Amino acid sequence: MSFQNPAFIPGPTNMPEHIRQACYMPTIDHRSSMFGEMLHPILDGVRRVLKSDGAHIFIFPSTGTGGWETALSNCLNAGDKVLAARNGMFSHRWIDMCQRHGLDVQVVETPWGDGLPADKYAEILKADTNHEIKVVLATHNETATGVTSDIGAIRRALDVAGHPALLFVDGVSSIGSMDFRFDDWGVDVAVTGSQKGFMLPAGLAIVGFSEKAMAATETATLPRTFFDVKDMQKGYDANAYPYTPPVGLMRGLKASLKLIEEEGLDNVFARHRRIATGVRHAVDAWGLKLCANSPEVYSDSVSAIRTPEGFNATDIVNRAADKYGMAFGVGLGEVAGKVFRIGHLGSLTDAMMLSGLGVAEMVMVDLGLDIKLGSGVAAAQEFYRYGS
Ligand SMILES: *Cc1c(COP(=O)(O)O)cnc(C)c1O
Repeated sequence: MSFQNPAFIPGPTNMPEHIRQACYMPTIDHRSSMFGEMLHPILDGVRRVLKSDGAHIFIFPSTGTGGWETALSNCLNAGDKVLAARNGMFSHRWIDMCQRHGLDVQVVETPWGDGLPADKYAEILKADTNHEIKVVLATHNETATGVTSDIGAIRRALDVAGHPALLFVDGVSSIGSMDFRFDDWGVDVAVTGSQKGFMLPAGLAIVGFSEKAMAATETATLPRTFFDVKDMQKGYDANAYPYTPPVGLMRGLKASLKLIEEEGLDNVFARHRRIATGVRHAVDAWGLKLCANSPEVYSDSVSAIRTPEGFNATDIVNRAADKYGMAFGVGLGEVAGKVFRIGHLGSLTDAMMLSGLGVAEMVMVDLGLDIKLGSGVAAAQEFYRYGS
């Protein structure tokens, strides 16, 4: 691996120098007013990225996985019924976490490469006339397969059924890179982390809670201490944390939010869409297929690319690292060895992306795949010249 090359893994993402510098700071007293002055603007900035007016934002020293646990443990009781679909490794892990918390998960098995089955959710919710389902889980962007799902459609499924279940959304690889509408979609808990769209090192779980989710915390009895949002809220009310906050990372988050706002949230999304479209043109030119089964679900933050039958896709990732010092993502779970992933989220430009496509091509040719050097790069170049 080389420190000079950009990384093309779907998190952690490349860190702009300015954000890196922001994390690097002397010790301050986290119980001083200086910390409070930093904290509240950060919570406001995260709320704007979620497109919410009133979400309660909590930031834990953790990762996205800790955000999942925050959502479950604060709002649910042992034995509660959860509706979820498994369409990749990340949705699978959240389901596994529910089961380990003693929740009763109704799993809709969904082909890896498909989006979340909103129709199926609608059917199940309509049939649940006793409202036994307490929460619906939705992975907005399934990072293992490069599939983005329509969260608005899940909201409609709940509304059409007149169902009161909470809607928990994993936005770890979408928030800050793709349009996310906490208020419009009636999201009850949104989960993300610091190391993807926010371009920071791993280390923060960032969650947003609706009023309805906050109300659920009043009666929820699953055990929680470290991730208790009410303890965290008490801390925030006193400009502090219930324990020691990761001040450097939070200062980095402040810099990240500023960078995102300066570019403009919608411009950030458009840039991700443009870069991703260039990658998709390259994949097409290589004669390869995405793991994502149809264009409506193509992800703008990560592409999982299928390799020919009998070829081990992980060889691409290993050779890229060993020979060219560049990082791509391996396939996970059901698609391990069948796909390799190009992460294209966070701090990236068209030019950086062309370097990644160029290396991917060299590696595939080295490994004997029938691909012409320059073909994918040229297809992306054509698009980046004219694409908006
Ligand atoms: C990365 C990721 C996670 C896990 O986050 P960690 O920060 O590694 O705990 C969860 N869900 C999705 C969709 C992700 O991409």
